[in-house]
Amino acid sequence: MIIGLTCLFLGAAFAGARAAKRVDPPWIHVFFIIFIFIYLTSCQSRDSGPIDNLCGQEPCYEGPFDPPWVSAYHAGLRLDFDEDLTHDNRVLETDNFLIFSDASDDWAKIRMGQTAEAALVLIKDLFEVSSEDLGIRDLSSKIRVYSARRNPGRLGPRSFYNGFIMWAYDSYTYATPELIPDITEHECTHVVQFRLGGAFSRVWAWFCEGLAEHVSNGGPYKVIRCWQEVDDWRQAPGHVNPISIQYLEQIPDYDRIDWQRREEYYPIFGVAVRYLTDPGGHGKTPVDIKNLFIDIGHGLDFGAAFRNHIGMSLEYYQDHFYALMQAFLPASCDD
Ligand SMILES: [Zn+2]
Repeated sequence: MIIGLTCLFLGAAFAGARAAKRVDPPWIHVFFIIFIFIYLTSCQSRDSGPIDNLCGQEPCYEGPFDPPWVSAYHAGLRLDFDEDLTHDNRVLETDNFLIFSDASDDWAKIRMGQTAEAALVLIKDLFEVSSEDLGIRDLSSKIRVYSARRNPGRLGPRSFYNGFIMWAYDSYTYATPELIPDITEHECTHVVQFRLGGAFSRVWAWFCEGLAEHVSNGGPYKVIRCWQEVDDWRQAPGHVNPISIQYLEQIPDYDRIDWQRREEYYPIFGVAVRYLTDPGGHGKTPVDIKNLFIDIGHGLDFGAAFRNHIGMSLEYYQDHFYALMQAFLPASCDD
């Protein structure tokens, strides 16, 4: 902006000085043309840059970044079977994502793209998968993010095979944008799960949400650190065994709109999955979980795939859950 105004001011000053002369020497025409050329190229390229000062925020692209903007090939963004989301038709393409939005500024889309790419690097490393393994081969198969500046819908962030809905960094309504990277890791974990074969409808809810919580280190919720917290949770009135939760609707008094029940249950789901892949716990690995999803994609049911790759039955885990947590976690959070 400052450069643009400076260019404009110099241009105006020069034009004024030139008009004051009755006769221009020939060299001044050449000088004027060169000046106009420099004005147009420098002002235009600097001022149309998508964002200032992205560096200083992690992750950050090195050097000048001129992202490819693509137009969508249809009017709505299709993320699942029954919903088209309208967008501004200025879509940011990154290595693995297409960032759509209703009204986000360019800088917010770019930051969303960086956040999504960083989340995917983390998740690909964890599960030892490539973009190819996730079916990302060309523009149309990239993961689509709908970065909502207005309300992303009553249900908040959601994920599908094709991508996920997320608040925009310049959201009008979301008050804690610093949580967007964690929530992006959560939603992106779901997308990777789906693309490996573990559809939401076929994997038990405690495992889907626990994995996403574990990968995102708690996401927006707290992380269970000690047995005392699990014991307090167990003794709270109305709670059921977390490993029994096949659908979120089985959480007592579950409400899709009110997130309070999720806040209570997601951390316990998270520690349940953490135990399975912790060397000090059950000792399985994220690659075992990846293979579990691949088997489900090949038609195995969740119970059988869990037994094959985790090495115990769902029934056993449910029955022994609290004893296993007590042995796994430090007794008190003060330790
Ligand atoms: Zn989730």
